[in-house]
Amino acid sequence: MMTGEQYRDSLRRLKLEVYYLGERVDSVVDHPALRPHVNSAAATYDLAHDPETEDLGTAKSHLSGERVNRFTHIHHSPDELVKKVKMLRALGQRTGTCFQRCVGHDALNALFSVTYDVDAQRGTGYHARFLEYLKYIQQNDLMIDGAMTDPKGDRSLSPGKQADPDLYLHIVERRPDGIVVRGAKAHQTGAVNSHEIIAMPTAAMGPDDADYAVSFALPSDTPGLIYVFGRQSNDVRRLEEGDVDLGNARFGIVGGEALVIFDDVFVPAARIFMCGEYDFAGSLVERFASYHRQNYGGCKTGVADVLVGACVAAADFQGTAKASHVRDKITEMVHLAETLYCGSIACSLESRRLAAGNYFVDPLLANTTKLNVTRFIYEIGRLAQDIAGGYIATTPSERDLRHPKIGPLVAKYMQGVAGVPAEHRIRIGRLIENMTGGTALAEAMHGAGSPQAQRVMILRQANLEHKRRLALRLAGIADQ
Ligand code: SF4
Repeated sequence: MMTGEQYRDSLRRLKLEVYYLGERVDSVVDHPALRPHVNSAAATYDLAHDPETEDLGTAKSHLSGERVNRFTHIHHSPDELVKKVKMLRALGQRTGTCFQRCVGHDALNALFSVTYDVDAQRGTGYHARFLEYLKYIQQNDLMIDGAMTDPKGDRSLSPGKQADPDLYLHIVERRPDGIVVRGAKAHQTGAVNSHEIIAMPTAAMGPDDADYAVSFALPSDTPGLIYVFGRQSNDVRRLEEGDVDLGNARFGIVGGEALVIFDDVFVPAARIFMCGEYDFAGSLVERFASYHRQNYGGCKTGVADVLVGACVAAADFQGTAKASHVRDKITEMVHLAETLYCGSIACSLESRRLAAGNYFVDPLLANTTKLNVTRFIYEIGRLAQDIAGGYIATTPSERDLRHPKIGPLVAKYMQGVAGVPAEHRIRIGRLIENMTGGTALAEAMHGAGSPQAQRVMILRQANLEHKRRLALRLAGIADQ
C-alpha cells in the first residue's frame, strides 16, 4: 500500500493533459490550484498507515488474502459497509473537504456485481476480466476516477437522439482488439489526480442506445484524454501569497472537479466491462449511485464535525460561547449531522448480498440519506454563518493584515476577546466562509446526483402498494 507521499510521487510520473484557466498544467501535484485536492486524496493513503485508523483504512482482499487499502476493496458484509462509512467520516474530519477517492471505490463495487450479472445472462466474459483489473488496482493501490455523468445536452432527448451524438460518451468504432470511444464526462471528482478512469453509462438505456451502453477502464494519461479543471469559489486566492484567506489551505474546498474529454480514445478489449448490453446500464447506474449516496452521511458528517468545531471556536474567540441561542444552534448543527450519519449506517446495516457475493446498500435508505444532505448541509451552513457573524463576508484580506501601516489597525479592529490573537479569529472565520459558500453548497446539492435523481429512486423503492394495503386494512376497507 502506498503512503500519501508515494501517491504524490506516483502522480508525478503520469503525463495527463490537464488545462486550468486556459493554460496547460505541468504538474497537478505542484500547481497551487490543484495541490490542495491532491493533499486531500493523499489522506486516503496515509489513513491506511496510521495505527489508529488502519482498521478502517484497510481491509483483507477476498482475492489475494492480503491487506489492501479499503478504497480498493469489495464489500463482503454489512460490517464492511459500516467501516466504509466510518472511514469516510474520519477522513472528513481530517481534511474538512472531499477526498475524492470514493467514486472509484464505488465504481469497483458496482462493476463487480454487474459484470457478474451480465455474464450470468449473456455468457459474456466480463467478470473474469474485471477481476484481473481489480487485482491490478489492489496490488498497485491505485486511485480511480469513477466517471458516470455525461454532459447530456438536451435533457428531454435520449442519448441516441441528441443533435450532437457526442453529448453522451459512445462507441465510434469496434475493432477486433478493442473499441474507440468519443464524448465526455462532466463534474469528474479527483479525475486529474487519479491513476485510472472507469467510465460507466449515466442512465438506463434502450435498444437505440447500445453504443452508449459502454463501461471500461483506462490509465488516466491515455492519449486522447483531455482534462479541463473546473473553477471553484475563491480559487484565485490560491494564486496569491499567504494562506489565511483560503480557510483550509492544505486541503481546499470540495473535490476538484474536471470536464474529461474522450477525443477518439482507444480502449483495449481487456479493459472493457460492458459493450452494448443496454439493458444492464440502469442496474449499473443504480448500484454506483446508491453506493455513492451511502457515502454522504459519512464524509459530510466528518466535514460537519469540523464546521461545528469552527463555530465553537468562533464563539469562544468573540465572547458568545455561553449565549443560549448559540448553544441551541450548535445543538441543531450536531443533530442534523448525526441524522445524516444515522442514514449511512442504516443503509449499510440493511444491505443485502448480491449474486456475485458482494453486499449492496439498501437503496431506499441510501437515497434518503443523500436527499437529506441536499437540505441539511445548507441548514448546517446557514447556522454556521449565523453563529460566526457578518465578518466572514467582510474581513479585509491577508495582504491588508500584513501591511506595515494598516496591518496593526486591521488586527486592532478585528480583535474579539482579549488574549486571542485577531489572526486566529480571522482564520476561523475564513474557514467557515469557505466551507459554507458557493461551490461547497452546490456540491452538497448535486454531488452523487441531483435531488430529483434521489426522488425518482425513493419513489421506485417505496412500495406504495404495500403502504396502501396497510391503510385499507386498518380502515376496515379490506381484510389483507
Ligand atoms: Fe467521497 Fe463523494 Fe464525499 Fe467526495 S463527496 S468525499 S468523493 S463521497
